[in-house]
Amino acid sequence: MRVDVLGVAFDNVTMDEAVDKAMAFLEEDGPHLVATPNPELVQRASKDPEFAEILGKADLVIPDGVGVMYAAKILGRPLKARVPGIDFASNLMKRMAETDKRLFLLGAAPGVAEQAAVNLQASYPGLVVCGAHDGYFKEDGPVAQAVREARADVVFVCLGAPKQEKWATANGASAGAKLYIGLGGSLDVFAGKVERAPEKFQKLGLEWLYRLMKQPSRIGRMAKLPLFLVSAAGARVRGK
Ligand code: UDP
Repeated sequence: MRVDVLGVAFDNVTMDEAVDKAMAFLEEDGPHLVATPNPELVQRASKDPEFAEILGKADLVIPDGVGVMYAAKILGRPLKARVPGIDFASNLMKRMAETDKRLFLLGAAPGVAEQAAVNLQASYPGLVVCGAHDGYFKEDGPVAQAVREARADVVFVCLGAPKQEKWATANGASAGAKLYIGLGGSLDVFAGKVERAPEKFQKLGLEWLYRLMKQPSRIGRMAKLPLFLVSAAGARVRGK
């Protein structure tokens, strides 16, 4: 069942259900797309019809941040669980390491995806990372070909949204993988370039606060969150 949050339909799933669904996609014909929108991206989709359409057609849309959870609650249709994209990716890799499924890492500055591959193979023994490519390329064709030649089953597409979802939609079929997951800045975290918030902050849903403390310049992006919740309240009042 999907839950509409200000124009984006989210799957009402727990972490385990989301990972089970992703594993099931690997047994079907592809390509499938998983998107992990936060409030900023819901707002983005309201101004970018192409992005909104892609999210509408995605096979799994999971709520990345607490903001989406609050908005769903305000709208009177609460979601079961917050499923942060990076944790979803980690749980999926745990499952992939028990199978022979192949992972391709796409995105971030040159060298980052390769470093992430080394770290992830150490963290998840048995995980097959079949290829990596940076996210600063001019033409899509050669990148899609690299994914195809690597015989990838899953691609973590980390180009930032909405670029990553648009790339996966335009190139998913020709690149030949079964599953594409838009994961923003996750490769920087997996490569150890960017530190994640300590677990305490994550558990309390305060990862945004930690990031703000570390990088006060994010305040402009964060300031949109209260407005997002006000929009949710407005939609509730209007009976939407
Ligand atoms: N990026 C990329 N190609 C581009 C633009 C961005 O590979 O043309 C990468 C960038 O290096 C970073 C990620 O995409 O690793 C975007 O991170 P951001 O934190 O902006 O995304 P979020 O997680 O907030 O969606």
